[in-house]
Formats: sequence, C-alpha cells, structure tokens
Amino acid sequence: MNQSTRRGFTLLELLLVLVIIALLAALLFPVLQAARKQANMAACTGNLRQLSMAYGMYLQDYGSYPEQIRFVRWVRDQRHSRAVLTCPEDPDPSSAASSYTYRTVLPPDFKPLAQRPEVDSSTVLVDCPNHLGQQVSRHGHARQRAPASYPYRLVLRASGTVERIRDDRIQRVLVPGPKLRHALLYPGEAEYRLARSQ
Ligand SMILES: [Zn+2]
Repeated sequence: MNQSTRRGFTLLELLLVLVIIALLAALLFPVLQAARKQANMAACTGNLRQLSMAYGMYLQDYGSYPEQIRFVRWVRDQRHSRAVLTCPEDPDPSSAASSYTYRTVLPPDFKPLAQRPEVDSSTVLVDCPNHLGQQVSRHGHARQRAPASYPYRLVLRASGTVERIRDDRIQRVLVPGPKLRHALLYPGEAEYRLARSQ
C-alpha cells in the first residue's frame, strides 16, 4: 500500500462533513425546542399544583381567599423561595414578584376574590400566559408582546386541576365601574356560558 496517499481528509470531504452536521442541527433544533417547551410546561404545571395547595393552606389558616399581593408574599415567605412563583418560560422573571396572573375579581358582579370563604370549583384562580411564545419588547416603560406562536395558556382552577386553555377562547369583558378595567372569563366557568349565550 502506498502510504503517501493517506494524508487525512480532502477539502471536499471536510465540507461534506460540515454540511451534514449543519443539516442534522437544523433537523434537531425544532425537536429540541419542542422538548424544552414540554419540559417547561410540566415544570409550570407543578408550580400551579403547589400554588393550589398553598391556597388550601391559606384558606385553612385564614378562612378566606387572600388578596393577590398578600398571597404572593405569603407563599414566598412560607417557601423561602420564589421558585414556585416563577414560570420557567417567563421571558423577564425579575420584572415582577411572580410570573403568574392571579384572579382579583370574579364575575358576575366583579367583586374581589379576597375575603371570600369559597368559590365555585370551576373558578380559575391562576393563569400562566408565558407559554404563548410571545417575544416581549420594551418601548420605554411600555412592554409590547408579539403575536403568540403557541395558542395555549396554563390555568389553575379552584378544584386544583391544571388545564391548557386556548387563548382565543378566553373572553375579555369590561368591568363596570369608574375606571376602565378588563377582566377575563375562562371556558368552563358558569359565567362564561352565560356570557356566551347573551
Ligand atoms: Zn408557565
């Protein structure tokens, strides 16, 4: 055998290897992205279940639902951590005390959730809008969100179940009162069916 012909890879072979690696990476990227999204949703579901238990403990201790800011502080102090209050998909976790949106007023009269001793089991207590895949951009103090690339939110109901709900099925209704405020109505809630049939 002529040893002088064995001199490593030719340029063409190297380029071929690089093209194959680039192709594999391009094929794998969406798969890895999807896997990461699934893992984050599972972690967030775990957080929402823990918040459900925290609501249960708070109700036992105080006899009624807490005000949102008080609840977030209470959970943080009980756990000595913000982990359960933070969604892994949150693009800007340091901007607020929690990644989640907590229900503050309930239909049909839009009175506060705080101080109520009980609510219907279908009531959505916590909503995670971070899985929509919206890029957040800042314009001064205003934050703008790009259109959603994934159409579901994760919500926690008073029954303790965590569900995926299509974003476009959530109704935004105007809260009567002196200030212009919107509230959300979620599919599966009694008032949602009423609002739909009107
Ligand atoms: Zn989440």
